[in-house]
Amino acid sequence: MIKLDQISDSVWDYCTPIYEGHISIIKLKNKLVFIDSGREPITAKNVRLEAEKQFKLPAKQLILTHQHWDHVFGNQAFKDCEIISSKATLEDMKSYMTTYWTDENIAKMKEEEPETFADFRIVFPNITFEREYQITDEKITIEIYQGDGHSAGNSYIFIPEEKILITGDLLFSGMTPFFGDPNADIFTWLEVYQNMLDLSPKKIIPGHGEITDKGEILNQINYFERCINWMKKYIENGYLKEELDTRKDFPVLKSMDIEGFDELVKSSIRRTYDVVKEKLDG
Ligand SMILES: [Zn+2]
Repeated sequence: MIKLDQISDSVWDYCTPIYEGHISIIKLKNKLVFIDSGREPITAKNVRLEAEKQFKLPAKQLILTHQHWDHVFGNQAFKDCEIISSKATLEDMKSYMTTYWTDENIAKMKEEEPETFADFRIVFPNITFEREYQITDEKITIEIYQGDGHSAGNSYIFIPEEKILITGDLLFSGMTPFFGDPNADIFTWLEVYQNMLDLSPKKIIPGHGEITDKGEILNQINYFERCINWMKKYIENGYLKEELDTRKDFPVLKSMDIEGFDELVKSSIRRTYDVVKEKLDG
């Protein structure tokens, strides 16, 4: 049973039981636009079917906020649609075929979760943009901005008429964010938060966690500033990157309730070391 939550006049959302992720739906006059496809093809398919039935409109476009697997593995449910992402997101997805998404890893995933991934295949975006993209109809505008920060090319979506912001993983609501991607940069990310605040969003659909508002952006700005200050002191005191895993006092927020979360946090801390060191070295 798929339950869609109404967020505004034109926006609905499905919150996934695993990872508290989001598949969002924007209802235009003649079509539906989806944002992110989640981690499971079957869930993506069911959300699409439910929305098409409920709104009596066809799905026509899927916008991908970014390339992490839990946002794009449902893509095959939208293979007849325009699938839109930033160019950098597509490039990263392609590079994953030889790193994370190898035949071997995909085979292992199918073996471990056969009901979920039996017919799984990777589906790439078929329309890409650089920096900005827009979809309009008579009533609303869907503005897409490439932000970077969480990963190369990740984007956020804003609907100015209804002041709804859909952030992808540029916002984790009420928990420690993941900033361990090899291209993550919390300095860039802080600039993105400023741009998001300038939009004055009324409601925010985050990448993970509950629907929220700009107060959560302020929380995350404060959190990143604490992370940066911690790391500056750590480096200035002459500690090495290799010693980071032994430290227990790096700032964290609430854990996401998933297996392997500690490893994600560790990779975020190591990545913070790199970006702060680079800043200090000028
Ligand atoms: Zn992500």
